Amino acid sequence: MQFQDMGLDPRLLRSVQHLGFARPTEIQQEAIPAVMVGRDLLVSSKTGSGKTLAYLLPMMQRLLKSRALSKQDARALILTPTRELAKQVYAQLRLFVANTPVTAVLLVGGENFNDQEKLLKRQPDIIVATPGRFVDHLEHKSVFLQGLEMLILDEADRMLDLGFLPQLTIINKAADHRLRQTLLFSATLEHTDLDALSLALLKNPFRVSVNSGHELHSDISQRFYFADHLTHKEALLAKLLQQESLKQLIIFTATRDDAGRLAEFCQQAGLPAIGLSARLNQAQRNKVMQDFASGKYQVLVTTDLASRGLDLLQVSHVINFDLPKHPEEYVHRIGRTGRAGAKGTAISLVGPKDWPALQKIEAFLRRPAEFSTLEGLTARFNGQPVVKMAPKKAAQTKAAKPGAGKATRVVAKPETSPTATAKRFFQGGDDGSAPVRRKKIQPE
Ligand code: AMP
Repeated sequence: MQFQDMGLDPRLLRSVQHLGFARPTEIQQEAIPAVMVGRDLLVSSKTGSGKTLAYLLPMMQRLLKSRALSKQDARALILTPTRELAKQVYAQLRLFVANTPVTAVLLVGGENFNDQEKLLKRQPDIIVATPGRFVDHLEHKSVFLQGLEMLILDEADRMLDLGFLPQLTIINKAADHRLRQTLLFSATLEHTDLDALSLALLKNPFRVSVNSGHELHSDISQRFYFADHLTHKEALLAKLLQQESLKQLIIFTATRDDAGRLAEFCQQAGLPAIGLSARLNQAQRNKVMQDFASGKYQVLVTTDLASRGLDLLQVSHVINFDLPKHPEEYVHRIGRTGRAGAKGTAISLVGPKDWPALQKIEAFLRRPAEFSTLEGLTARFNGQPVVKMAPKKAAQTKAAKPGAGKATRVVAKPETSPTATAKRFFQGGDDGSAPVRRKKIQPE
C-alpha cells in the first residue's frame, strides 16, 4: 500500500512527500486506515517503527475533513511521558499543520505557565502535552475538553511507569463523551496497569502489534562487556571510544552526577561531549539537545531522560555505562541508534550491580546476551551473582569457623559460563524464576 492509496488529504500527502517517505511503514499501513474509519486503537510497536506518523496523519485527516464538535475546545490532545518526546512530536506535527488552518500548541512542564495560558486563549485545535502540566491547565480552567475529538497516548506504558495514572484518569473524565476517538500506543502491552487503562479509555479497539519490544531490532547490533567496578568500566569506555568508528554517541548512566563526570571524561579523550541531566533547567536542557542535534557535540551523556523521543539519525552508537532497571528502558535506549533503516551499535557494560538488570533484559528479549572482551581488560566478574546468605546459615558458618571475620556475603562458585547460565535462566520462565527441578525418586 502507498500513502496515495489511503485517501489522505493532498496537503498531508505533500508533507509526506516533502519528508521523502516513499512507503508507509508496517505500523502506518495497519493503523492509518483503521483510525480513518473511526476505530479506537491499541498499538504495541517497537521504537523507531514510524508510530508518530501512524497517528499524526489520520488525526490531521479527521481535523481537516470533519466539523469541530466545539468552536472553543481543543479537538485533539496528544500526551507523551517526557518533555523531550512531546517536543519531538510537536516538531513533526508542525510540518503537517503548515499550509492548513489547523493550529497546534506544545504544553510541557518547566516552561512558563502564563505564556502557555496565553497560547491556550487562542483556542488551538491540537495540544501536545505532558500529562502533569496539562492537568495543571485543566484544573486552572485554562483549557476544556468537552469538545475533544481525539485523545492520543504515546508511550502509555512509560506514562504509567512515571506515575501518571491519576492525571490520565482526570483527562479521561474531562473528555468523556461518545464521539471521542482514542489511540493508545505502547512499547509493550504486558504492563501491569495497561489492561485497566485501555479498558477505561478505549471502545472496542482495533489492535495492532508490530514488532513488539521483545523482538530484536535487526539494524542494531548489541554487545555486552563484563566489568568489575567503576574504574574498570571507565577503562573499557576509554578503549571503546578509541576503537569504535563513532559518528555520534549517546552514553546512558544511572546517576546525574555520572552524566557530568563522564562528559568530562570523553572531553579528555578528545571527543566534544556534553552531559544532560535532570538538574539542568528546561532552557538548558533544550540548548544541550539542540547542540547535540546540530553536531556541535559528538557525545551526549545522559540519564534515562533522553531515552525516548530523540530522533537523531547520526547516532551510530549507544553505550550503556550502567544498565537500566526496567528492560523496556533498555529497548528504548538502544532504539536511539539504528533509526529509519540506518545501522547502529549498542554496547552495554555489565558490572555486578547491573547483573539483576541484565537478567531481566535477557528475559524480556527472550535471548541470552552475547558477551565480548577487550584485550587486556577481561573482567574477573563473569556473571555469577553475589549471593546473600540467609541469616541462619551465615550464623552457622560463623560458628563453624571461629575468627573467619564478617563473612555475611559469599560469591557463588562459577559452575558454567554466563551464556550457559542465561540459557538455563530461559528454560525457567519469563518471570525470572528458576525452573523447578524435582529429584527423581528411584524405585526401591
Ligand atoms: P517513530 O517511530 O515515529 O519515532 O519514527 C522513527 C523514524 O522513522 C523517524 O525518523 C521518522 O521520521 C521515520 N519514518 C516515519 N515514517 C516513515 C516512512 N513511512 N518511511 C521512512 N521513514 C519513516
